Amino acid sequence: MQLYSTNRQSPPVSLEEALFRGLPPDQGLYLPDTLPVLPESFFRDMHLLPFREIAVRVAVALLGEAVPANVLREVVYRAIDFDAPVVPVGETYALELFHGPSMAFKDFGARFMAGLMAHFLQQSRREVHILVATSGDTGGAVAQGFYRAPGIRVTILYPSGKVSDIQEKQLTTLGGNVTALEVEGTFDDCQRLVKEAFLDPELNQTYTLSSANSINIARLIPQTFYYFYAYAQVRHLGKPLVFSVPSGNFGNLSAGVIARRMGLPVHRFIAATNRNRVVPHYLITGDYAPEPSVETISNAMDVGSPSNFARLQVLFGNQVDQFRTLLTGASYDDQQTRSAMRHVYQTTGYVMCPHTAVAYLGLRDYLATASQPVTGVFLATAHPAKFGPTVEAAIGAKVPLPERLAALLDQPKQSVPMSNRFDDFKAWLTAGHKS
Ligand SMILES: *Cc1c(COP(=O)(O)O)cnc(C)c1O
Repeated sequence: MQLYSTNRQSPPVSLEEALFRGLPPDQGLYLPDTLPVLPESFFRDMHLLPFREIAVRVAVALLGEAVPANVLREVVYRAIDFDAPVVPVGETYALELFHGPSMAFKDFGARFMAGLMAHFLQQSRREVHILVATSGDTGGAVAQGFYRAPGIRVTILYPSGKVSDIQEKQLTTLGGNVTALEVEGTFDDCQRLVKEAFLDPELNQTYTLSSANSINIARLIPQTFYYFYAYAQVRHLGKPLVFSVPSGNFGNLSAGVIARRMGLPVHRFIAATNRNRVVPHYLITGDYAPEPSVETISNAMDVGSPSNFARLQVLFGNQVDQFRTLLTGASYDDQQTRSAMRHVYQTTGYVMCPHTAVAYLGLRDYLATASQPVTGVFLATAHPAKFGPTVEAAIGAKVPLPERLAALLDQPKQSVPMSNRFDDFKAWLTAGHKS
């Protein structure tokens, strides 16, 4: 199994190289050259398997040539020590992806990737420096996933004042091998700084830089697992399956599309966004026009230029008509998002984070016009307490803080202020490495 660049201007690489490189030299994104289709027996019997066993089978099918099955099993079992239940919400279902340590779905990608890196580093005794830009939830998941990982240093860049208190605490309180840079700017600035670092010849000569953003294929792969597991949980309902995915960089949705290529019977995906609606706009008009991001209450999706779009383009053969056969776009403003949180809470008692509410809205609108009965599943990507003040204001009720998050709030924040200029960032990186 090899990975090729979506731009096809740089040579295919091994999993190990794609994992540590993150981005190919031609600035495309890596994709596996084969997406094996899983046997029918797997789908028939998967409801009998626990989540982690389903994940192991998918991982072995995809990565078995690059990593021994027993290592994959260990990585999966360590990374996924929490459930991803499908729970009924009114006529629909929520796939809850927030039961991991950072209480957002990004735990899946970060923890699996950390496990794979540790495996390869153990063999080569190298040291790597991971750079990661976060719009909120990535930072917490990566900080937790890589904390104290031997041979790995982590620098997290986040936009100052644009992440929630809890998110900020999740990435600024661990210390150790994890440093948080508080960037004067937007998430797009953070992402640009990281991308420039990867393209800087001088930095790359001196250090092994690596990414943990959703551009890294190792983050994407474990995100396929829960689509399979969700299917295992709702298959008995016997209706076509529709997933609504709250999207920012479109890693989560790309993983769903890959799962479908591996044989998962998905009828349709809803690409649900907040006002950063480049992709829904593309699906309607055929015109792809990245824009500066705008701030919303679903801030982990405030992305104006989704980094995984290149992957989707390749998966859909660069044809907007191909996109449309499987994807429906939908976009909502903050007012609609708040109303959805309130309405669902009042009618069902279910409390959603703002990102989840965007996915719920996408599904609701799709179901209103669907021509056949379907099983509608919206992805619940973060625990509502991570966005407590926003959710409480919307639903008019308290959201109890889980123990895990409450403990964080008392800890002091440790961050390094940073401008949004690459020269400053580079100088800091270089100085930091020498000390
Ligand atoms: C990151 C994130 C998203 C967006 O996921 P992408 O893979 O970037 O599209 C949605 N919801 C939450 C809570 C997130 O943290």
